[in-house]
Amino acid sequence: MGTGVGGGVVVNNESIHGLQGIAGEWGHNFLHESGGTCYCGRLGCVETLISGSGLERFYFGLTGQKKSLIEIYKLSKSGDARAKQTIDRLIDYFGKALSVIINILDPDVIVIGGGVGNIEELYTDGVSSVRKYVFNTRLDTPIVRPKLGDSAGVFGAAFLTAVN
Ligand SMILES: [Zn+2]
Repeated sequence: MGTGVGGGVVVNNESIHGLQGIAGEWGHNFLHESGGTCYCGRLGCVETLISGSGLERFYFGLTGQKKSLIEIYKLSKSGDARAKQTIDRLIDYFGKALSVIINILDPDVIVIGGGVGNIEELYTDGVSSVRKYVFNTRLDTPIVRPKLGDSAGVFGAAFLTAVN
């Protein structure tokens, strides 16, 4: 979860590619029309709602002000109602989007990478939001930050090059 949203599935220490190579391509699942048109041409992809660029676009729509997600996040902490609305909306759609993954895969862990993953509330309110939408009476799935921090994607790309 950064500028865009992507995903991958690891089973028994191996990444799963799928028949068409799109396994785990979560960012372009449909989530809600209000996200608008995605760069991929579809409407309301996960990415349009919970990526950094999607959140910045939403805030711009509310205020007419171009701010980075970090600025919006800081504003939400200092009482800016529209910044808070932007972060609250992220939390709600995070729950809706991740609950679908858990319903299908019921994974042992979900690791959230990227700049949006630095928003603390994802691991508190965000988890509550997932719990609200998942098809179960409880939620045991750990939702955690990557041990490699924001560089996890780069390490992954290097690893793929090394093994292929
Ligand atoms: Zn898309």
